[in-house]
Amino acid sequence: MQQTIVLALGGNAILRPGQRGTAEDQFANVKTTCESIARMVKHGYRVVITHGNGPQVGNILIQNTHSQDLVPAMPLDVCGAKSQGLIGYMIQQALHNELVKEDINVPVATVLTQVIVDENDPAFKNPTKPIGPFYTEDEARRFEKERGEKWVEDSGRGWRKVVPSPLPVEIFEKSAIAALIKQGTVVIAAGGGGIPVIQKDNTLRGIEAVIDKDLASSKLAGDIKADILMILTDVERVAINYRTPAETYLTEITVDEAKKYMEEGHFSAGSMGPKVQAAIDFASGGGTSIIASLKRSLDALRGTSGTRIKL
Ligand code: ADP
Ligand code: MG
Repeated sequence: MQQTIVLALGGNAILRPGQRGTAEDQFANVKTTCESIARMVKHGYRVVITHGNGPQVGNILIQNTHSQDLVPAMPLDVCGAKSQGLIGYMIQQALHNELVKEDINVPVATVLTQVIVDENDPAFKNPTKPIGPFYTEDEARRFEKERGEKWVEDSGRGWRKVVPSPLPVEIFEKSAIAALIKQGTVVIAAGGGGIPVIQKDNTLRGIEAVIDKDLASSKLAGDIKADILMILTDVERVAINYRTPAETYLTEITVDEAKKYMEEGHFSAGSMGPKVQAAIDFASGGGTSIIASLKRSLDALRGTSGTRIKL
């Protein structure tokens, strides 16, 4: 029986720090990432790819801002959909090209993904996720007054708008995704954490929010009954006492150990925290979660790199 793996790609899989973000930059990074993914497909895994979209949505928002006198600006849910299309296209093409080199004839398809969130999620009362470009304090204060938005100072780099980050409740397209995987397609889904939607009286409506991509990936992995959730980032393993003299990298831990370390505050809220939480959520249902570096994803599958979290 083939195993299904959900691969959650971190920001550096598509855009690296210091790069401008041209199409060429992004295609080049995606190609490197797809070389490893093609090898996983060759080894017989059924692969579902999820990814972040922070820099891409940021750039789409800047394009919006500077052209709104010419064409109407689009709301965040529509910008999220655009980013899923742009990144999905790059991965579809780059992965196809790598699969052909490996002599593998497998289709690759992107599923534009909506994720249901709860309109009573406490996150809606306390927006925390910074999005888009940086502004001056004066501008930020003006936007707060004029548009009723919330803006915060972001680590000395300027002021940014913040939006709510609710928990994913259900991947709306899960059955379409499951059907594609079952018939052998490599699927790209839940990009950027998915497009947050509210479901009421059986209708869906997009909402201004950002779902954490690792938590959405974990939800997707659970919804489609995947065997492995692999979260790929820029560090080889999860550490406790990170960046202190007592720093220790973890090879394999149980869900209970992961929960204990989480409570002790070893994982930062905006970065490693959601990854470990996502890993705990998925492993609690009996699957294997792995947090590893993008460069060593194949080693992590073999067990010679990364941190494994199991029940
Ligand atoms: P991604 O784009 O892959 O989601 P993030 O920057 O959100 O990447 O998260 C990865 C970062 O988490 C690493 O670069 C690392 O600096 C940071 N990090 C925070 N706490 C830890 C920890 N305890 N162990 C390892 N990395 C950690
Ligand atoms: Mg992140």
